[in-house]
Amino acid sequence: MTRCHEIRPYLEAFVDDELSTDNALRVEEHLGSCSTCGEEVRLTRALKRSLRDTILEEDRPTLAFRTRLAEVLAEEVAREEQRAPVAIPWRKRVTPVAFAAAAVAVLSLSNGEWSKLSGWSTSLSLLSGEAASRSHDDESAPTHQGASVVANPQKIIDQLVQYHQAATEPEVTDRSALLRFEPQVGVPMRIPELQQYGARFLGASVVPVERHRAASLRYNLGEHRVTVYLFNPQVVPVRSLQELQLRVIGDRAVFVGMRNGYSIAAIEQRGVGYMIATDLDDRESAELLASIR
Ligand SMILES: [Zn+2]
Repeated sequence: MTRCHEIRPYLEAFVDDELSTDNALRVEEHLGSCSTCGEEVRLTRALKRSLRDTILEEDRPTLAFRTRLAEVLAEEVAREEQRAPVAIPWRKRVTPVAFAAAAVAVLSLSNGEWSKLSGWSTSLSLLSGEAASRSHDDESAPTHQGASVVANPQKIIDQLVQYHQAATEPEVTDRSALLRFEPQVGVPMRIPELQQYGARFLGASVVPVERHRAASLRYNLGEHRVTVYLFNPQVVPVRSLQELQLRVIGDRAVFVGMRNGYSIAAIEQRGVGYMIATDLDDRESAELLASIR
């Protein structure tokens, strides 16, 4: 039987449908009996899907943003073109480790630069060989250099969990009133429809997050309380929330974790960042978030 380390370098090309029939068969055969590599394929697919959804999203507000995206895309295309077909066996694959490294790279920038960077360029750098090669040499242990600069995302999670705990009276209880939050938060108020889980919408507020703002939406789900935050992922890239673990739910990449006894999960969907804080367990939180379209 083919061993994992022989198959791994081919997985990303496999997902992209770029392998010769022979190699694709070898990979398929291996995947039939190896759940670890199967998980890797699922993860790679989900990441690529999130990225694709992000790029397809059209109702982005600013010209500056579009310009930046066009630049990043052009760089990415140029990089793709430089890759000779024979290089596939050495092609860097996207791993959670590469992922962490890319997030660290972004966060190492100054605060000003950080806020200018969009979540998309982060996503794009994830899929570039450059980001992956940074961590490729050390597959087992994520690098923690630069860990000291990731205090902000941690603080953000703390703050949002505290708001959930405090459960203050919502500013508005009418869904249509949420539209007026858009200029403050900077993203479209796409209200998660959680009815299929029996969730009842109670109301919403705008809350300060560091120097920015998020919309806080309160729901009841049976006797559980659920807060869903909508935020601008260009300001707080979901992937910068490093202490959250990446999990694939269906075809979505969701970041999950625990804080102060509450489960939290985050996802970026069509240009909107969502984070949930609840006393449901982490699997349920992740599923709620993954249902957002
Ligand atoms: Zn394997």
